[in-house]
Amino acid sequence: MRIAQFKKDGIVRVGLVEKDQLIPLDFNGDMLDVILRGGAEGIPLCPPRPLPEITLTGVLSRTSKIIAIGLNYRDHVREGKMKVPEVPVIFSKFPSCLLGHKEKITWSRSVTQQVDFEAELAVIIGKEACDIPEETALSAVFGYTCGNDVSARDLQFADGQWVRGKSLDTFCPLGPWIVTPQEIPNPHCLGIKSVLNGVTMQSCTTAELIFSVPFLISFLSRHFTLLPGDVILTGTPMGVGGFREPPIYLKDGDEIVVEIEGIGQLVNSCLVI
Ligand code: MG
Repeated sequence: MRIAQFKKDGIVRVGLVEKDQLIPLDFNGDMLDVILRGGAEGIPLCPPRPLPEITLTGVLSRTSKIIAIGLNYRDHVREGKMKVPEVPVIFSKFPSCLLGHKEKITWSRSVTQQVDFEAELAVIIGKEACDIPEETALSAVFGYTCGNDVSARDLQFADGQWVRGKSLDTFCPLGPWIVTPQEIPNPHCLGIKSVLNGVTMQSCTTAELIFSVPFLISFLSRHFTLLPGDVILTGTPMGVGGFREPPIYLKDGDEIVVEIEGIGQLVNSCLVI
């Protein structure tokens, strides 16, 4: 099942995506409300509409936290000249940086001049998880989507920790929809790439993750409770712009696409103000 948010008469609604159609749910609530009721199964459906006529919004309007994992692909660790971590490197992005498919990643030139992209598999939590064992951790997953851990490198590396450079408004595009685990029983065999203005920048597979999705959910839930609608960004593979020689940073008008096999394409353009 593929579940998306869209707006009707200015109000966020939820619908199912099937091929080139969006089937609105006959349901008063947003994606988090759907997650809290245990999913979209059993909700009456409205007549389908052609998907190209619908403007999707972000897959989540609300979340309690966005947890991101740094250095979770070996090739990315090498390009950053870092050491392979023995425990996951964890940081957070503020919920205020959520952005939707086809919305604009926006920043001020006076704040940052080194904005980079990071293609990531995003995990959306479906059930409260506190100290959940790794063996059953996937039961806490509501679904998966494409994420872009947009990063202001100048701010990130100027600070002792990364939250400022990772949390500028619009710096967490997610989408275009959430795919439920019935369609992705194994999240560790998915092709993942980023494409900048038509040129492939990152191309890898989630089989290369150092720490697996169930390990991460179990590990994180030992330290803090994961709540429905929480987001885990699982890390990015090699090929980000800032570690290239010379570096490639995002510019006004650029189009950056994150594509994950079995999910789809998250497309965003850039606006520098
Ligand atoms: Mg990242």
